[in-house]
Amino acid sequence: MSHPCLRCGACCAAFRVAFHWTEAQPAKPDGVPEAMTSPLRRHELQMRGTELAPMRCVALAGDIGVDAHCSIYAQRPTPCRELLPAWEGGEPSVQCDRARERHGLTPLTPGDWASADAVT
Ligand code: SF4
Ligand code: SF4
Repeated sequence: MSHPCLRCGACCAAFRVAFHWTEAQPAKPDGVPEAMTSPLRRHELQMRGTELAPMRCVALAGDIGVDAHCSIYAQRPTPCRELLPAWEGGEPSVQCDRARERHGLTPLTPGDWASADAVT
């Protein structure tokens, strides 16, 4: 079974994604593509699209709740790496639950991980 996040993408269209400018190109050559960011505060950038309403990160590909995925997965910024899917590691995740709720998706359960493939 595919990884639950590959059938979701809700958190990429639920929260502003802000991070230090050093996580993006050109400061970090393998970081977030500069064109996908916009200035936020003095030392911060944000993922384009997460400042809008309705929000959707510009790097999110596919349909939310169907086949969504991050098109810059290896280059994604810290907030994206730190938002853990509920129950993947045996712990709940309020942010994951909240994002899914905003998109009409039920919260993940431990059972969703029983036969899930890893995201590589
Ligand atoms: S972390 Fe949660 S909200 Fe984000 S894509 Fe995965 S399942 Fe969806
Ligand atoms: S950079 Fe990728 S993981 Fe982060 S919000 Fe955008 S699409 Fe989601």
